[in-house]
Amino acid sequence: MGCHEQAQPAGVLRQGRHFNQHTPLRPAGRALRWKIAAIVSVCGPITRHATPAMPRSPQQLLDERMMARCIELSRAASDAGEIPFAALICRGEEIVAEATNRVVRDSDITRHAELLAISEAQKVLGRRILNDCAIYTNVEPCPMCSFPIREAQIGRVVFAMRSPFMGGMSRWNILRDREISDAMPEAFGDVPEVASGVLVHDAEKVWRNWNPIGWGVIRYRGLLDRPQSDSEPVREPEEFPRVRRKRRLLAELMALHRRYRRA
Ligand SMILES: [Zn+2]
Repeated sequence: MGCHEQAQPAGVLRQGRHFNQHTPLRPAGRALRWKIAAIVSVCGPITRHATPAMPRSPQQLLDERMMARCIELSRAASDAGEIPFAALICRGEEIVAEATNRVVRDSDITRHAELLAISEAQKVLGRRILNDCAIYTNVEPCPMCSFPIREAQIGRVVFAMRSPFMGGMSRWNILRDREISDAMPEAFGDVPEVASGVLVHDAEKVWRNWNPIGWGVIRYRGLLDRPQSDSEPVREPEEFPRVRRKRRLLAELMALHRRYRRA
């Protein structure tokens, strides 16, 4: 047994991405070795879950195509020195706007990909309301981005990784909050459909390649994870009939109001 092999804590750093059997290492304490082992273990290869051969619906196929583009953009963001976040706004098969985070490049914490994509889509379409559009993001939108998603009345939200501690649905339920739709339907529209876990394994790979140790810490702390299934079912808007009734009533009252003002 060579001297280098003796210096390695057995079964710990040998698995790491940046270490090999020729790397001289200082012996680590037991607590430190345990922490390193935990981090390295979550940095390990991502195993793709066996997916049953289920036929994909046209909507799922479209979601996967758009998410693949979103993940490609997140890779470009990491190449540009950003944390790998990206977003697309689509109207059916048409990509209206796409963006990556610009937080690092602009030294501005409000430059999230979702906000940039929404602003761009509103400029491109020349309107504030995007209820015929879907937003695709590689990570569940944060609360700062979720509120404008609601205010722009985006009809569908599709993301890959879940964000249990910072998510605008998992932690603070802004995306699926029905009370704001109920109270101000003309401002917030219907509760959007949400699909999660789309191409989640591919989205994770980008984060792992961006920073294997950083990704290990993120997984160890549970900051990002996978939804229960690869693609959670989309709930139908018919679940919220009360919102529609209220909106119709308000619209009728507003029409009456306009008629009386003209008279
Ligand atoms: Zn955000």
